[in-house]
Amino acid sequence: MPVWDALDAEFTSLDAAGLRRRRRTIGERHGVNMVVDGHSAINFCANDYLGLADHPTLVEAAIAGARRWGVGSGASHLVSGHFGAHHEAEARLAAYVGAETALLFSTGYMVNAGVMAALVGRGDAVFADRLNHASLVDGALLSRAELHRYPHGDVDALDRHLRESNARRKLIVTDSVFSMDGDIAPLGALFDLAERHDAWLMIDDAHGLGVIGPQGRGALRAFGLASPRVLYVGTLGKAAGVSGAFVAGAAPVVEWLLQKTRTYIFTTGMPPLLADTISAAVGLLEAADERRMHVAELISQLRRGLRQPERLIPSTTPIQAYVVGENQAALDLAGALFAEGLWVPAIRPPTVPQGTARLRISLSAAHTASQVATLVDAINRHTP
Ligand code: PMP
Repeated sequence: MPVWDALDAEFTSLDAAGLRRRRRTIGERHGVNMVVDGHSAINFCANDYLGLADHPTLVEAAIAGARRWGVGSGASHLVSGHFGAHHEAEARLAAYVGAETALLFSTGYMVNAGVMAALVGRGDAVFADRLNHASLVDGALLSRAELHRYPHGDVDALDRHLRESNARRKLIVTDSVFSMDGDIAPLGALFDLAERHDAWLMIDDAHGLGVIGPQGRGALRAFGLASPRVLYVGTLGKAAGVSGAFVAGAAPVVEWLLQKTRTYIFTTGMPPLLADTISAAVGLLEAADERRMHVAELISQLRRGLRQPERLIPSTTPIQAYVVGENQAALDLAGALFAEGLWVPAIRPPTVPQGTARLRISLSAAHTASQVATLVDAINRHTP
């Protein structure tokens, strides 16, 4: 069948380019120690930065939540899927990050895919950092606003784009901590531009929540941003150790999003047991300074130990990108590490720019210094 022939050809070219994606199956998890495709491995590729994903407090909260509410929410939020558990989680999240109010979604992808279309549309413009997460690109495209992508972190280029634009409404959108590089956006300068050009500023703090700012309160507190023009997105499947996401901001904006965001309205509400687990996670995040300090020590241990530090993208966060270059070389290095029980993924285009295939090392408070030493030694031995 010709349709299948076309697919076959696509697979062949993916394979030839070293771009075929594979997933590995985890059979057992004990913190960062996992059984992966039948092999024991230390996980250096999760976003569980504080090691909370299997924390007993969260496991108990999930079990208690299931006993109290059952499993499924049974409907979308605006019909009958909104429980007290969601309400409480929203209040706790808003207070934690320093926003007036919050709206809970099932995933960060859904926040980012849906929120922009509620704020901007045809005749408007979105200004996006070139290295923004894919979900932000999709959200901008779905909004039908004009999309301007500015070079990574380049506030002067963004300023020029904004000055040249005669769009009705403008929205600047950026990751706070970039997901594949680990560096932090110049949020203060972006906020100044948003004020000057009367634009919305949407900050995706997926990798900052729980990690940056006092008590891990995230980007708003880290940069002192409290303004009705700022929309904050936090995700709960990373440092918080659970699943889900929220958008937070001034009450009228969040009320507007509740009215208009299709990825909120037309989907089943998150299981309330997860909302209870999220509330428990907020308590753990607030109290996790020791875990954050431990991760900071592991980050500097890794950066000091690698023999070719110039390969590391500058980053103070648990995301440490070790640039290899060619796709096959990155795959080979990741394969050699996996053979030694070290699970670090090779990240390739289109997730990262051509020629910058890399190991994306994620550190976690659940790692020990000796596990990081093992990783450093293996990378040094296997890098030509
Ligand atoms: N934003 C960023 C920066 C991310 O890295 C991710 C997840 N990889 C998301 C949003 C999507 O969040 P979720 O996994 O909750 O859909």
